[in-house]
Amino acid sequence: MVNIVIFGPPGAGKGTQAQKIAQAYGITHIATGDIFRREIRSGSSLGEQIKALVESGRLVPDELTVEVLRSALEQQPTAAGFLFDGFPRTNAQAEALDRLLASMGKKVDVVIALDVPQEELVKRLLQRARQQGRADDNEAVIRRRFEEYQRKTAPVQDYYAQQGKLQHIPGVGTIDEVFGRIRQVLDPYFLKQTDGAA
Ligand code: ADP
Repeated sequence: MVNIVIFGPPGAGKGTQAQKIAQAYGITHIATGDIFRREIRSGSSLGEQIKALVESGRLVPDELTVEVLRSALEQQPTAAGFLFDGFPRTNAQAEALDRLLASMGKKVDVVIALDVPQEELVKRLLQRARQQGRADDNEAVIRRRFEEYQRKTAPVQDYYAQQGKLQHIPGVGTIDEVFGRIRQVLDPYFLKQTDGAA
């Protein structure tokens, strides 16, 4: 069982790399942004509560987000491992994740931080806006998402650095180049696992 957090600013490519990681290592991908967008589309009461926040680039409150994550974890009792994408986004969420995993006898093993320069991020997000039409990919909302990231999410890196779990990966290059770098970091964790006693 290897549990991974993929971390990075908006537009760093977390979702793209997360799909490749989950497939390559056979672990379960949990993306809070995807869960929230699904809830909004479904018109559920949770969706109603969070629509304005997500679409204006603000974070969903920790308590709600942690509940959503808890329920996603409970729906996957047989997962071989988890890849958390877009979570944790605050120190309080990071602490809650540790508690949740501990209650299941699990822990975060490694955190992959994708590093991408700001100007490249803005370029990617505006391009995604044109291609996919996500409601939170326009200039004003993108600016808000970066502010939220700088203020609340970037500090989460220190939380994991203090635990010796943070691994920085340059997030610029082709999708496969970036994925190759990620594999170099992750492969040893999965080898250790199959060696059993080693
Ligand atoms: P990005 O492409 O910017 O990484 P995501 O798809 O991960 O965005 O998330 C989109 C939006 O969903 C965020 O801007 C935020 O409003 C909400 N959201 C997702 N995950 C969280 C979280 N862990 N805590 C609070 N809000 C979240």
